[in-house]
Amino acid sequence: MKKSEYVIVGANVAAVGAIEGIRRYDKKSSILTISYETVGSYSKAMLAGYIEGAPSEWLEYRGKEYFEKMGVGCLYGRRVTGLELEKSKLLIEGGEEVGYKQLLLAVGGTPFKPAIRGADNKELIFSFTEFLDARKIRESLSNFDRVVVIGAGFTGTEIAYTLNNLNKKVSVIELGDRVLVKALDPHSSGIAESLMRDQGIDFYLNDTIEEIEGKKEITGVRLKSGKSLPCQAVITAIGVLPNGQILSNTALNFNRGLEVDEFMRTNIPNVYGAGDVVKALDITDGQKKPLPLWPLAYQQGIVAGVNMAGGKYPYIGGLPMNSLKFLKVPILSAGITTPPDAGYEVLSTEDPKGTFYRSLVLKDGRLKGFVTIGAIDGAGILTGLIKNQVDISEFKQNLLHEKRIGLIRMPREWRNKIFTRRDETGYHDSNQ
Ligand SMILES: Cc1cc2nc3c(=O)[nH]c(=O)nc-3n(C[C@H](O)[C@H](O)[C@H](O)COP(=O)(O)OP(=O)(O)OC[C@H]3O[C@@H](n4cnc5c(N)ncnc54)[C@H](O)[C@@H]3O)c2cc1C
Repeated sequence: MKKSEYVIVGANVAAVGAIEGIRRYDKKSSILTISYETVGSYSKAMLAGYIEGAPSEWLEYRGKEYFEKMGVGCLYGRRVTGLELEKSKLLIEGGEEVGYKQLLLAVGGTPFKPAIRGADNKELIFSFTEFLDARKIRESLSNFDRVVVIGAGFTGTEIAYTLNNLNKKVSVIELGDRVLVKALDPHSSGIAESLMRDQGIDFYLNDTIEEIEGKKEITGVRLKSGKSLPCQAVITAIGVLPNGQILSNTALNFNRGLEVDEFMRTNIPNVYGAGDVVKALDITDGQKKPLPLWPLAYQQGIVAGVNMAGGKYPYIGGLPMNSLKFLKVPILSAGITTPPDAGYEVLSTEDPKGTFYRSLVLKDGRLKGFVTIGAIDGAGILTGLIKNQVDISEFKQNLLHEKRIGLIRMPREWRNKIFTRRDETGYHDSNQ
């Protein structure tokens, strides 16, 4: 049986963070990463650009040389099918076994695929979650002119915008009453929707797909409202869930996300988790939940890696952030954008020309979330204020109205709080 001191299931950003964390404390011991994908470590934020024609090399995040330099073995194109935690080993498709001393589960998320009547045996139905999905969409572009996207969240709107740029007729179906419901407040959601409608994308809100029509090839979809939309392809983008495929029938605590403590340890002593698979601390509401974001997966990976190798880093938590970089007018949001109850104060302002909108959500004088449209320069300051929970009562009007938020007019103590020097992950080893 193959054995490695550290085994990481997954080879993307959480895995890379973990490799860096491990190597801070342990320069020599063997590390093995395993991924069913053949491409190793790559940027999912670039998948839309790849569909539009960018070369696949542009997706690469850490190449072969990086893994060699870090002394990491890579098993790519190999799927882990089972975990035998009590024997500290895992099983790989084809029957091979791999033993470990420390295991990191960095298996990411998996797309939620609704059961839709008529979906079986149709070729042009896609997800939009990983490289293979993007490659299939890119290779099929000449086979469809009209496409229906299910879901108006971040990935749904991104793929809709991308395919619209490629001159496809795109219709987006959304069960909720507005687009980007998790990322934006109702007003900014309306702005985002009209920016996309102006580009020629159609939206069908408060609706869902009843059936995909056509015998072998797709000819259209029938909606619950009774409408029929002609199309030759369907993309499901309803959301990504923590990937429980190999975890849910084990002794690990997995309940819509892998449960980990502040050191990224699971309930099994030599098993850790990081990235989209875990429930991580959201600092804006103190809840543990999936926070599927690239920088957070990297930071959690570092924390897990350091702790696996004998250091002691706590994970201080992260906050949900969204950058709708694909729209013509930039939109950024972070934290709580739609307050869950009346205990929050909401301030908002809008330029009458419709080129600037900002809303701030506060609780007890502290910033909990924001949306900024058309003027995004000060977003780093706003996220710093959320992370550090500075009392902004005296400056909230400046923060709301200034298109370029100026630090210089703020008190020194306030500036120092935001820019307290930290290492690149924002974490300190509590052993040091
Ligand atoms: C289209 C798209 C655009 C995005 N854009 C942004 C953005 O702009 N900004 C941002 O912050 N975030 C963005 N994200 C989210 C971001 O990409 C994720 O948060 C990040 O990739 C999570 O990293 P991860 O390492 O936890 O998991 P993943 O990147 O999902 O990697 C999971 C790894 O596990 C492997 N794996 C899973 N199961 C097994 C198994 N059984 N056996 C072997 N290997 C396995 C996979 O092969 C893969 O290597 C985007 C996501 C998508 C889908």
